Amino acid sequence: MDKDTDVLISDSSRNYLVVIWQLLTDSPYKKCSLVLGLGVILITVITLVIVFTHQSTGPSDDICPATPLVTFGYNPHGADGPLHWSHLAPETRCCAGSIQSPIDIKTQSLYCRGFSAITYQGSPTGALNGSISSTGQGAVLAFSKQHQLVTGVLPEVTTDYVLDSMHFHCPSEHHVDGKPMSGELHLVHYKKQYSSFGASVAKQDGLAVIGIFLEEGSSSNNSAFNSFAEGVQKLNDNRTGISVTLDPRQLLPTGGKFYTYFGSLTTPSCSESVRWIVMQKPIITTQEKVAILRTLKVKDAAHLSDFGNARPLQALSSRRVDSNTYHWKIAALNNKGTRK
Ligand SMILES: [Zn+2]
Repeated sequence: MDKDTDVLISDSSRNYLVVIWQLLTDSPYKKCSLVLGLGVILITVITLVIVFTHQSTGPSDDICPATPLVTFGYNPHGADGPLHWSHLAPETRCCAGSIQSPIDIKTQSLYCRGFSAITYQGSPTGALNGSISSTGQGAVLAFSKQHQLVTGVLPEVTTDYVLDSMHFHCPSEHHVDGKPMSGELHLVHYKKQYSSFGASVAKQDGLAVIGIFLEEGSSSNNSAFNSFAEGVQKLNDNRTGISVTLDPRQLLPTGGKFYTYFGSLTTPSCSESVRWIVMQKPIITTQEKVAILRTLKVKDAAHLSDFGNARPLQALSSRRVDSNTYHWKIAALNNKGTRK
């Protein structure tokens, strides 16, 4: 651009501004323009306040960070049943969110990836100590903080997650091709850099949960699951302060095949902060062992089996489920994933 053109534009811009100024200050437009100007300033200020407020509360609010002190149930007709979870408290609003769990895993719609098997690193190399207690809707085994197992690299994640606790659902929460299993164990992990489960719930990448199906068969050879079931049996016998020792690594089925997607906690607050890893192969156990879980006393029923403690399926919406269950050698060459 040459200098003459520059001057020309400057002159025409100046003339334009002068005309606008005259229009604004000359009667009869003067009064009207002042009102208009004040209106524009007011709207701008309001817009800035809304934008600033939204940014300062941050996206963490949208994933429901707090663990609410509300009671909830599984009675489909109850006032605190799954259909009403989203308005039990302000912190449970995420239960009506769009990236919720559990889901039906459709094996014809998986994206094939070259994930390696889930592993745990570090010490201890043997069993972990923990204590088991009732939650009112099931039982939880909280592992000792002195011995922390850290996962290896998880799908889409390059940092370590610490094993915090495990619990169960009967029947299973996730389905595969429309079918539930007898039960599902959940190994709950939080991201090590966030220091605790409570702090991690507030982070979009805060949690990782491994789901392991339970299927009924003629024998129950998984000693870690048997130890957990024996602990639940002691709860059934009204005992408290129950110590359980088991090695969580024994719970992971051989072969290392799994489905993975991003979702939420399946109980209020339904926080949308969970990398789900659902193992393909189930733990085979007996009907008697599953019956121990199903006959646990819960708060709004005689036994857990009356209503179960599985949340109804949630819509997958625009999410996708990745897996290393098919064609893993081919998928390994294509880290973008290949639709099965
Ligand atoms: Zn669970």
